[in-house]
Amino acid sequence: RGFEEEAAPSVAEAHRAIEARAFDLAILDKNLPDGSGIEIARAIASSPSDTKVIVLTGYANLPSAVEALKVGVADYISKPFDLDDLVARVSHVMGLLDLERANHALTEELQSKNAFLEKLATKDPLTRLSNHAHFQECLQRELVRAARTGRGLSLMLFDIDNFKEINDAHGHPVGDAILKRVAAILLGAARKSDQSFRLREADIPARYGGDEFAVILPDTPEVGAAVLAERLRACLGSREVVGTELPAMRISVGLASFPEDAKDRAEILRCADGAMYAAKRSGRNRTVAYSVGLERVAGLTAREAADREIAMIRALDECIEEDRFRFVYQPIVDAEAWRPFAYEALMRPQHDALEGPLEVVHAAERAGRVHALG
Ligand code: GH3
Ligand code: MG
Repeated sequence: RGFEEEAAPSVAEAHRAIEARAFDLAILDKNLPDGSGIEIARAIASSPSDTKVIVLTGYANLPSAVEALKVGVADYISKPFDLDDLVARVSHVMGLLDLERANHALTEELQSKNAFLEKLATKDPLTRLSNHAHFQECLQRELVRAARTGRGLSLMLFDIDNFKEINDAHGHPVGDAILKRVAAILLGAARKSDQSFRLREADIPARYGGDEFAVILPDTPEVGAAVLAERLRACLGSREVVGTELPAMRISVGLASFPEDAKDRAEILRCADGAMYAAKRSGRNRTVAYSVGLERVAGLTAREAADREIAMIRALDECIEEDRFRFVYQPIVDAEAWRPFAYEALMRPQHDALEGPLEVVHAAERAGRVHALG
């Protein structure tokens, strides 16, 4: 019938045979001279092989059938057997085995495809760094861990300065090559150079989006993160590290730390973003660590606060240059003589960006414009 068979006249020999090679099917007599065929069925069931089992039993009663099925036996046949019946059952079980194997192969293929897709879903295709979504997940996980262990965590965000100009001057492919080079340096390409920069195993670099990158630094206080950020800035600005075929690169870095600056993910992102924006605003190519001063205007994000600060200082300069102040005079009255002897001059700025005198004075103080205002 096209089957190849091997006979084993005892339990001991059957054990030896199934250990020596893999069979598609074992037809086991329930009663063997040195024990029960069910024993072999059990051994097969607990082995990693996918061998199917048919049990032959002289007692075609329910209990022995149930016993056989319990140990994963595919079918049973009562003795004396009918050859056509046996062949039909063997063919049926072999068909089952083929289906099972095909199913197994499909499942494995599916699993490996899923693993590949999962990887795609977590990686940025250009740089192969973690993508934005995966970064957010990692940050959440690392913050939970930091809260549990009580060890601080720092977040570094950085953005390439004037990247649009690099794209315009050298073309998009060069821009892409720069982004890839940044990723390679984050992954350790600069390790052996003079400007050594390397992340630790636990640090997580990611492409945050566009020309912006993020690095999660577990177990790192802000001071440590600042040292690292300055090393990275030096590295990316170094011809030796970046290579002569790519244009020089400057970055603006923002840092924030847990738990000092922020208590959760949204907050630490906002702080690092505000610090980075402050680095841009104050001239680029530098590292700024978050400080509460950036958010002195209550209720605003750090970036909004920084924007507002810039607008206010501009408005102040305009008011001073164009004399855009109105004054309101309030008399100071001599109570006995009942007449004014002096006036208090109340300044009213004539500018949408400046709400009142207090704002003007504070802005002038921060911008070093107090004398000009006077
Ligand atoms: P700033 O110093 O303020 O950061 O100025 P910038 O010119 O770098 O401008 P910004 O960071 O706001 O914009 C980033 C630019 O990066 C916008 C886009 O043209 C470019 N960019 C974003 N993603 C890619 C990319 O995958 N490849 C390339 N070549 N360019 C990109
Ligand atoms: Mg940029």
